[in-house]
Amino acid sequence: MNRPELWIAAAAAAPVLSYFLGRLNRWAGLAAGLLLFIFCSFMLAGEISAGAPFAALALWVAAALAHSVLLNGRHSDAADRSGLEAAVKKAAALEAELAAIKSEASLNAAGEKKSLAIYSAVKLLSETVEPQTAAKQLGKYLADYFGTEEAALYMAGGSGGVAEMELFAQAAKGSALPALAELTALAGGFPQETAAAAGLVLAPVAAGGAPLGLIVVRADPAAADSASRFASDISFALKRVILFRQVEWLSLTDGLTGLWRRGALDEKIREEIRRASAFKTTLGFMIADIDHFKRLNDTYGHQFGDAVLKRVAQLLKSGVYETDFVGRYGGEEFGIVLPRADSAGLLRKAEAVRARIEAEVFSQGLEKVRLTVSIGIAHFPKDGRGPEELVAAADKALYAAKESGRNRVAEAGKS
Ligand code: GH3
Ligand code: MG
Ligand code: MG
Repeated sequence: MNRPELWIAAAAAAPVLSYFLGRLNRWAGLAAGLLLFIFCSFMLAGEISAGAPFAALALWVAAALAHSVLLNGRHSDAADRSGLEAAVKKAAALEAELAAIKSEASLNAAGEKKSLAIYSAVKLLSETVEPQTAAKQLGKYLADYFGTEEAALYMAGGSGGVAEMELFAQAAKGSALPALAELTALAGGFPQETAAAAGLVLAPVAAGGAPLGLIVVRADPAAADSASRFASDISFALKRVILFRQVEWLSLTDGLTGLWRRGALDEKIREEIRRASAFKTTLGFMIADIDHFKRLNDTYGHQFGDAVLKRVAQLLKSGVYETDFVGRYGGEEFGIVLPRADSAGLLRKAEAVRARIEAEVFSQGLEKVRLTVSIGIAHFPKDGRGPEELVAAADKALYAAKESGRNRVAEAGKS
């Protein structure tokens, strides 16, 4: 078979083959087109005389082949470019998704940290038998929870009630939070619900409607919910601590006067003597006994007697340093431990206390009553080297003061 028109047609179609095959790979397409053209040229050899017609065919094929390569090149570039763009977009989307997952994870981690801090605080408060030690650890949980060193928990005092609130735990020692009085002034009294003022958030802690404490955090108002949550979650555990402290307090202090009971005061004397021995310092001890108190009771009744005892207790407390210990030693007898007092200072202080009580007017209705006290003082180490010895010396001095006419101060070893 030798039909030159077929081979001419096939040669002319070589670029078409090149184009379509080139869609897969432009260079393979070109090669296939070239091969077909060469093969056709070979088959045509001798059929058409070399010269202008073949040259025209070859020219057309060459141009068309080049064009097909060009077309396929553009096509694949465009495909590559759009593929690249799609890949870039996808990468950006993945990155955004990853960032979202990361931030959610860190949010979860923050939430988890908060939950853990609350859980730990509740556990600590529910189990502690030593509130003072627990307070330190609780401060750390406050810091964890609020993410600031400026956070504190105030708690109703040993005798109960928010009127006597005191600092219980703080995130960092000596944090720059305002004093409690300032805080409650900011909130216009003890806050009934979480309040934000002056860059602070105040969240009351309450159980069964009774206020137990106050959480104070330096934070913007957005932290109010979080502070409320902490306050409400720890409330029952905090109540336990307060009850625990109240029991402890009640057993150490006298219900009528709020002063230390005899046992507690004896312990203070022992402690202070140990301290004074160790540091080679001195200490004073005085016993004050109300003169003719039985008569006052008999005349005005026990109730008035109780009121007088309370007032005398206040006068004694306010008459000595805050670091001194005032206790109710018996019915109308009071003991005072004065660490580091020297002998002359002790005498001066006792005399001032005696004079203060002599000057007081105790009143009940229209009745105005005055009374006096007798005081015995003893000095460590001069009058006694041990607790019992010191107390006995003061007691003996008191007896001497009574004997010599009452309303006076007597020093141990001077009668
Ligand atoms: P003296 O000057 O010798 O100390 O006379 P006194 O009457 O104060 O001494 P005494 O020790 O004989 O009496 C103490 C009285 O104190 C007896 C009791 O009626 C009274 N008393 C003791 N405890 C209380 C109390 O808790 N409340 C009241 N109202 N009276 C008390
Ligand atoms: Mg008396
Ligand atoms: Mg007495």
